[in-house]
Amino acid sequence: MTDQTHDPALQSWVESANEAGTDFPVQNLPYGMFRDSKDGRPRLGVAIGAQVLDATAAFGLESMKAVMEKPKAEREELRRRISRFLVTRDRGAESRLTPMAAAEMLPPCEIGDYSDFYASIHHATNVGTMFRPDNPLMPNYKWLPVGYHGRASSIVLSGTPVRRPRGQLVDNPAGPPVYGESRRVDYELEVGALLGPGNAMGEPIPAGQAAGHLFGVCLLNDWSARDIQTWEYQPLGPFLSKSFATSIAPWVVTMEALEPFRCAPEPRPASDPQPLPHLATGGEDAYSITLEVWLRSARMAEPMRLSRGNFSTMYWTLAQMVAHHASNGCPLRPGDLIGSGTVSGPLKENRGCLLEATWRGTEPIELPTGEVRRFLEDGDEVTLRGWCEAAGARRIGLGECRGVVQAAVAH
Ligand code: CA
Repeated sequence: MTDQTHDPALQSWVESANEAGTDFPVQNLPYGMFRDSKDGRPRLGVAIGAQVLDATAAFGLESMKAVMEKPKAEREELRRRISRFLVTRDRGAESRLTPMAAAEMLPPCEIGDYSDFYASIHHATNVGTMFRPDNPLMPNYKWLPVGYHGRASSIVLSGTPVRRPRGQLVDNPAGPPVYGESRRVDYELEVGALLGPGNAMGEPIPAGQAAGHLFGVCLLNDWSARDIQTWEYQPLGPFLSKSFATSIAPWVVTMEALEPFRCAPEPRPASDPQPLPHLATGGEDAYSITLEVWLRSARMAEPMRLSRGNFSTMYWTLAQMVAHHASNGCPLRPGDLIGSGTVSGPLKENRGCLLEATWRGTEPIELPTGEVRRFLEDGDEVTLRGWCEAAGARRIGLGECRGVVQAAVAH
């Protein structure tokens, strides 16, 4: 439900928050952990225009985890308090601000567990068609959100360089492999969701309550080594092809901020099964978020847009991923991270990774410098961007998630 914090007419006394095109107007209020040069202590921040509000000093909130753990009604009330603080200027309020350029962003929280899904049917169909032309979608795809357990230890903040991994590679699908540098490093454009209150072990989360266990979303790049993946993925799924790095953006846009952009998922074709009751989360729990990938090679002055898609085209919603994840009684905890899976849409321009965009390297992309890309080269910088727009609502953004591919460690 929207409230006064979503009023598109609201203005902040932080003037940069009122500029057209800012990702962080007063209707957004995303959380991020940061430190400044004053005492170097990690603090909870709220992005407002080109400034960071110190929510630790202003509201006594020690960490993002402290907010995540709160029940939804308390998180909504906190949002109203922060909104009032930034709309009505109290004496001395500006002393709580740090320019974003002077704030060192930190990871949002210690991420306990990380699971990555595969919820775009367009992505799953494209990838399935490349690897199994006769049988692109497995029989389970339309019944459950397919996922795997990822590694929390290699999740890094936007801006952290990503080292090209080494692994077992094959020329012939039957082997033998060699151990060497991956030549097929790729990005995956995803939405990450950090979880709020968890569930007790053994107790599934009812479908209708799953949305209340979501805290907020951030941009996520699930870096992938396609050549390592091809050899290792059967029969238990991806492993070392994914666990070398996952980048996340520093700003976490809350589910409350996304409320004006909540919408019905795309209708399933009549021939598709309806979700089983434990995954029937009740209708309007998709979100319209425009998502883009930009690439800049070391020789390019400006980045080039590679794709644009929308999060509302996913076959499974975040709430359904939560309900499924907990449906066996697995406890989810505040600060756990789930990845949506690559966000690809029905059109070629919506393809959210190079594997799809270059169709496994067979349709290379030409860059303005004359360079071509099938997969990422050393020095390539990938930037993900996302924002939400809707009639009657102020535009809000997710900021950006950036990473440069570095040469593999010398061997
Ligand atoms: Ca992925």
